[in-house]
Amino acid sequence: MTALLEGRTAIVTGAAQGIGLAIATTLVGHGARVTIADLDGAKAEAAAAAIGPAARGVACDVTSEESVAALVAGAVAEYGGLDVIVNNAGITRDASLKKMTLENFRAVITVHLQGTWLGIRAASEVMREAKRGSIINISSMSGKSGNPGQTNYSAAKAGIVGMTKAAAKELAHHGVRVNAIQPGLIRTPMTEAMTPEAYAATEATIPMRRAGEPEEIANVVAFLASDLSSYMTGAVLEVSGGRGM
Ligand code: NAP
Repeated sequence: MTALLEGRTAIVTGAAQGIGLAIATTLVGHGARVTIADLDGAKAEAAAAAIGPAARGVACDVTSEESVAALVAGAVAEYGGLDVIVNNAGITRDASLKKMTLENFRAVITVHLQGTWLGIRAASEVMREAKRGSIINISSMSGKSGNPGQTNYSAAKAGIVGMTKAAAKELAHHGVRVNAIQPGLIRTPMTEAMTPEAYAATEATIPMRRAGEPEEIANVVAFLASDLSSYMTGAVLEVSGGRGM
């Protein structure tokens, strides 16, 4: 039996650690060749080296138009095409409305919304020519339910849902699918920054009574990246152990 993603090529942004790294590892495990993009180029290269020859690491700032254009052009030059992009790079700058600065608001909006938009736009240019492609955007349950202390992040993650659906409608007749995933609480460096009390309080609200592992997001990405989901576009999949359903 051929591997699920045999012959496919992918880009994963923010993939030097956390969910992105698990996604890159899983896609390679299913037969894809993957470009790992992250702010820290050396860390991206080290992550790729640990995965093996089917991965390459590059520096990319998803907020920069030039950087994202170079990322896509480089992946196409190296692998001869682009079948999948996972817009995963993200940051948090949590604070109450009382304490959040405009700078913190803008930083989160820019990385998530501008970054995802630049990724969709650059990748779809290549994919519409090829008449196939799968774009996967990482939103969050925070974008569905809203979290206190995350007015910036919840807005950005909800915005990714609207962006996903608009792009899905624009690109469907070109053979390009665009879907989103809303992870719940996942164990990564991002959530390890939470206080133990906040982490435990969140975990207690999950019907499955545990945080998710990055691989449990990566498996859903592999499904959306592959032809197993060939009739799905504009979908928003909650992967949250039942939290926020
Ligand atoms: P993470 O461990 O912090 O990893 C995010 C990666 O993105 C980091 O390597 C980070 O680099 C990189 N990055 C940040 N800004 C970037 C930029 N401008 N250009 C390129 N790369 C950039 O976070 P994670 O938990 O794996 O989260 C991955 C995605 O899932 C994010 O979109 C996040 O919002 C989403 N998510 C996570 C959870 C969760 O519970 N963990 C839940 C829902 C959604 P630096 O370390 O150098 O900043």
